Amino acid sequence: MSDDTIFGKIARGEAPAKIVYEDDLCLAFRDLYPAAPTHILVIPRKPIPRLCDATAEDQLLLGHLMLVANQVAEQEGLGDKFRLVVNNGAEAGQSVFHLHLHVIGGRSLSWPPG
Ligand code: 5GP
Repeated sequence: MSDDTIFGKIARGEAPAKIVYEDDLCLAFRDLYPAAPTHILVIPRKPIPRLCDATAEDQLLLGHLMLVANQVAEQEGLGDKFRLVVNNGAEAGQSVFHLHLHVIGGRSLSWPPG
């Protein structure tokens, strides 16, 4: 699967990012336009465009992304006060078509989101 997105380029080391965590399956880096004092993106190395493109084959990978998000939140000192967001599809606000989890914290968060 080809992946010309900016996140695909970051995953391959072809574009810069402030990486805060990486392993064989995924990496986490700071959002370039943070929506909160802490805003980290966790992405799989595998180029899955949207969450709805994931399959049963990705089950372990998806669980891993959640646990890495947890670990990053702890590393960033967010304690139990953070939010995970996955925008799925352009109409839901997705702008980069390489699956990513937003880890957002460091300020009070209201609900529901816009
Ligand atoms: P989405 O709207 O697809 O859910 O989230 C994409 C996120 O990627 C946005 O929060 C946006 O600020 C961030 N972003 C866009 N381009 C770049 C980039 O080149 N580098 C980084 N680190 N973040 C980016």
